[in-house]
Amino acid sequence: LAFSDFKLNKQLLTAVAEAGFEQPTPVQEQTIPLLLAGHDVLGIAQTGTGKTAAFGLPLLMKVKYAQGIHPRGLVLAPTRELAMQIETHLKRLAVHTDLRILAIYGGLGPKTQIDTLAKGVDILIATPGRLMELYLKGALVFKELKTLVMDEADKMMDMGFMPQIRAILEVIPSKRQNALFSATMPDRVVRLSEEFLEFPMRIEV
Ligand code: AMP
Repeated sequence: LAFSDFKLNKQLLTAVAEAGFEQPTPVQEQTIPLLLAGHDVLGIAQTGTGKTAAFGLPLLMKVKYAQGIHPRGLVLAPTRELAMQIETHLKRLAVHTDLRILAIYGGLGPKTQIDTLAKGVDILIATPGRLMELYLKGALVFKELKTLVMDEADKMMDMGFMPQIRAILEVIPSKRQNALFSATMPDRVVRLSEEFLEFPMRIEV
């Protein structure tokens, strides 16, 4: 199987080749077609398996080009480090598109993030606490949101982000596509996945 077997556009295939990805990894092979077909996905995968591109390529394909002000894709991550890493990775895959990708996280003053959001963002990567903080300040509008990805869901539960995640789920549109990735599947991650995924396809690598 090659990346060109997926229904990805030329801009993304070129970026994949430039990133030096010769062949999809197992998690990419299983996840990309399901997400492109519109399914919700529950993925049990560790870091290092290529899961970022597994959810990232379908997300970039769906959001496609810059439009409006409000984010259409949202990736939740437990830590600032992971959010930054996902941002770098998605920007690299989006180099031949005009998509505006931004990571927001705590630890820095929110001013720059608020200014960038005001100019328009297509795909947002965020830690749950900072996301809710900016939403409550009125700096974020979720009405255009079509896709939600939760990365390292087990770590988000361990870090006590469940209340913020619940709050986020209450203020985003209910009609959307979802993906959840987790290295492990303890009960509380199973419950979280039951709460927000709709008829998910389960993949495990
Ligand atoms: P991740 O699991 O998403 O953090 O990815 C781990 C590393 O694998 C990153 O450095 C990616 O750039 C790299 N990677 C992802 N997909 C592929 C692929 N298909 N071929 C080679 N390297 C890849």
